[in-house]
Amino acid sequence: MAKSTIFHPDFKAKPFWWDAYEPQPLPEVPLPKEVRVVIVGAGYAGLSAALELHRSGIECLVLDANEPGYGGSSRNGGMVSGGVNVGKRYLSKAMTPNEAAPFLTDAADAFSHIEELIEREKIDCAWTKSGYFLGAWCKSHYDSMVSKMDTLNEHAQSEAYLVPPDRQREEIGSDYYRGGIVIGRAAIIHPALYFKGLLDLCTARDIRIASKTPVNKLTQSGSHWMVDTPRGTIKAGDVIIATNGYTGDVTPQFKRRVVPVGSYIIATEELPPDIAASLSPKNRSFADTRRVLTYYRMSPDGKRLIFGGRAKFGHTDPVETASILHEFMTDRFPQLKGTSITHAWTGNVAFTLDEMPHMGKMDNLHFALGCNGSGVAMMTYLGHQTAKKIIGGGNTICAFDQPEFPDHPLYNGSTWFLPWIGRYFRTLDWVDRKFS
Ligand SMILES: Cc1cc2nc3c(=O)[nH]c(=O)nc-3n(C[C@H](O)[C@H](O)[C@H](O)COP(=O)(O)OP(=O)(O)OC[C@H]3O[C@@H](n4cnc5c(N)ncnc54)[C@H](O)[C@@H]3O)c2cc1C
Repeated sequence: MAKSTIFHPDFKAKPFWWDAYEPQPLPEVPLPKEVRVVIVGAGYAGLSAALELHRSGIECLVLDANEPGYGGSSRNGGMVSGGVNVGKRYLSKAMTPNEAAPFLTDAADAFSHIEELIEREKIDCAWTKSGYFLGAWCKSHYDSMVSKMDTLNEHAQSEAYLVPPDRQREEIGSDYYRGGIVIGRAAIIHPALYFKGLLDLCTARDIRIASKTPVNKLTQSGSHWMVDTPRGTIKAGDVIIATNGYTGDVTPQFKRRVVPVGSYIIATEELPPDIAASLSPKNRSFADTRRVLTYYRMSPDGKRLIFGGRAKFGHTDPVETASILHEFMTDRFPQLKGTSITHAWTGNVAFTLDEMPHMGKMDNLHFALGCNGSGVAMMTYLGHQTAKKIIGGGNTICAFDQPEFPDHPLYNGSTWFLPWIGRYFRTLDWVDRKFS
């Protein structure tokens, strides 16, 4: 462990969430020779698809190269947003209000879907609908929030309102931002317990999930797929790719469409009650409009700050990035100087070239991919929508089911360029703050 004083004596290089539930291999299931649907990836998307298929009586098998939940689904910040992941792109002027509307509507549905699922199935994951504050990094970012708020409210039911700089302290115990926007329709959860809830629902329904079973090859044979794993080959009518930030060489067509970017998180030690209460007076979750963004929230018991961000672009040791995150954290909350951290971890976020999540069918493979850092609600929803598409009979098409899923001639899945993007983004952030 590093010698720095920021590390608590009980420090672990593991997700804080794993203290409550750590992904583990499941008892080995015999692999069938043939099954109607194979799902590759046992995260929120894969399990959500499996549950919906099962509900319609369609037999499926979920395969994961690691322990189910090993990916982003047990490592994330647990911040649940509806329209914000689409709204971010919209807020950054990449879409007109009319173009954004169907995506915002579906993003709002994604929020309703996870909220209803957790309530209906009584998933014990500390769901708290306490809103989200997006801090403006500079004045021009705040001005752009002013002009976009109405569309967010109209199409994403965001319950959004602006917070000018002089009222910011009502939302956050910090003067770091130039005002911001509150999205009332947002929640926080314990992400690993939410994953466990989905897993428990699958096992209660005898849905077969094979852990430590990587899919090594997919071959189309007539109207079927042959799915090769080290434990045998399975014939499947349909295959769903739900590998998000862990998409690999088995599906090169998707590997070159998602960019896996490391996201890093730290958890503080338990804070003195007055300091803990000062950080998020309304128990909001937070993020900012910086390109080198940070996101943070209190732990479910309100005693610690869970603080994440793009401490480094590219993949590196979370212990190394912990000190960078600690500095980001104390920039925002000087009252946390001297606070030590008990956990540091990382996971892969899947960015897409148009910054939008995608589902659909390509080369006869179904897919739900590209959370762009906001996938708790969205990947649950896209898994569900993908299953509904296979089941058939529905008459609405999800807005994220687009024929276009852009790639780039210079990107083949290798992320050597990420540190350069990081430098470029840091420069743009500096210019924005200085001159806007
Ligand atoms: C650090 C971090 C913080 C985040 N914070 C938030 C947040 O606060 N709010 C939010 O909404 N979203 C957040 N996200 C994003 C969110 O976690 C993801 O969008 C979501 O978990 C993706 O779920 P998934 O099911 O699509 O993929 P994952 O949960 O990543 O699962 C993919 C699975 O595919 C498996 N796999 C890969 N290749 C193969 C193969 N060949 N064969 C078999 N299995 C394979 C992997 O083992 C993995 O288990 C965060 C992500 C990270 C990493």
